[in-house]
Amino acid sequence: MQDKNLIGGQWRSAHSGETFAVCDAATGEELARVPRCGALEACDAIEAAGKALQAWSGLTASTRATVLTAIAQAMRERKQEFAQIITAESGKPIDEAQGEVDYAADYFLSAADEANQLQSETIHSRRADRALCAIPESIGIVAAITPWNFPLAMLARKTAPALAVGCTQVVKPAESTPLTALAFAQLLIDVGLPAGVVNVITGDPAAIGQAWLGDGRVRKLSFTGSTAVGRLLMKSSADQVVRLSLELGGHAPFIVFSDADIPAAVAAAVSGKFRLAGQTCVCPNRFIVADNVYSEFVDQFAAVASGLRVGRGREAGVRIGPLIDDRAIVRIRNQVKDAVAKGAKIVTGGATVPVEGCLDRFFAPTVLANATAEMLCFQEETFGPLAPIAKFETESQAIEMANATPYGLAGYIFARDPNLLERVSRQLNCGIIGVNTGVISDAYAPFGGRGWSGFGREGGRWGIEEYISWKYVCAAVNG
Ligand code: ADP
Repeated sequence: MQDKNLIGGQWRSAHSGETFAVCDAATGEELARVPRCGALEACDAIEAAGKALQAWSGLTASTRATVLTAIAQAMRERKQEFAQIITAESGKPIDEAQGEVDYAADYFLSAADEANQLQSETIHSRRADRALCAIPESIGIVAAITPWNFPLAMLARKTAPALAVGCTQVVKPAESTPLTALAFAQLLIDVGLPAGVVNVITGDPAAIGQAWLGDGRVRKLSFTGSTAVGRLLMKSSADQVVRLSLELGGHAPFIVFSDADIPAAVAAAVSGKFRLAGQTCVCPNRFIVADNVYSEFVDQFAAVASGLRVGRGREAGVRIGPLIDDRAIVRIRNQVKDAVAKGAKIVTGGATVPVEGCLDRFFAPTVLANATAEMLCFQEETFGPLAPIAKFETESQAIEMANATPYGLAGYIFARDPNLLERVSRQLNCGIIGVNTGVISDAYAPFGGRGWSGFGREGGRWGIEEYISWKYVCAAVNG
């Protein structure tokens, strides 16, 4: 397992020699120790990215596309190895971890396709005395700060488009899941990516983030994480006018209309809500169900949820692994307590489940009936396996409830009437809509949010655009 940082093609420790422990999310056992870097190493990483920039951005886009395709292929070849690391440090079920590796590889394939199409564009002006064109240039050195929940896919989303366009990159993974990022760094070396094109450091997030945003050479930061940290980074990016993409928290509504296929809606609700034990930013957070199918939906949902196996992610058949830390347990307990105090009914779950040899971090899949907008779980992102279900009577009421949040990432609608689906899709204030499906992520589509969920898009040509600085050239034509 790789436990050093990659800077300029060298495996390095922190200058101070300090390290911090990375632990198994389920048991708390130490898996490895990685460097505790700070501002000094953050600057070393920028230096290395700066040295590599000219050569990398000077390659043809199709040459870079070949490298991206090789990265995708190598990722697939190392799927089991990556999946084991992801499961150990994040706690997610092993089949979800394998799915994450495929998803991450898709970002490289998508970016390779886009790189092959990158070209200057001729602009037809109304004036005959000018020749105009727009050239897609790399924005330069870019930074990526990634979260713990998809340690490979979130990195892939940022690295693939950056490399496609010709940027060089400095990366800081989350403290709880840096081993996946270091294994990824090893893969980049193995496929022959030139030294310094991607640099990965671990350590103090605030010190590293400040060093990158304050430097002036880093021209863009792509961040996925909490809205609170997103706000801090936005403020810090002002001095050097650093471009940002922020993928922040979510509070997805999941609306079930009366004509919906209820068993299909239940299956989607279960797979969407309980993936990674509810710790994804697109997880349905608020269920809003038509009154005449309410009991049917609640009963079926609770029946399936209560049967999901809770345990260590590495065991086959487990659907609910641990939450990432004790804070997450406190938050979900607090939301359940608050909801019950305000009149919600626990239909299933509501507490942690003991798992032999493991920490007390396994929360049972929980379904709450009689949820209302006054409850904390309808206002605060849960990031846990809690499904509060509220009731609505009219379409406009459902839309109003769904939009009653400053977040705007994903939203889900279940119904049969195509006109209703069309109407409601248009009115939901979010960046991504799932129509009769609970799984919406796709490396070829624009992933991103509105409002407190951030801005910028990842995936497909939209993801590439974030790393391009268009240069418009206006040349005089002498007649
Ligand atoms: P979560 O609650 O999911 O852990 P965070 O926003 O705290 O979300 O973390 C997402 C990423 O942001 C992680 O890589 C973390 O280390 C990093 N991070 C946390 N605080 C800061 C900060 N002050 N400056 C820069 N990065 C930070």
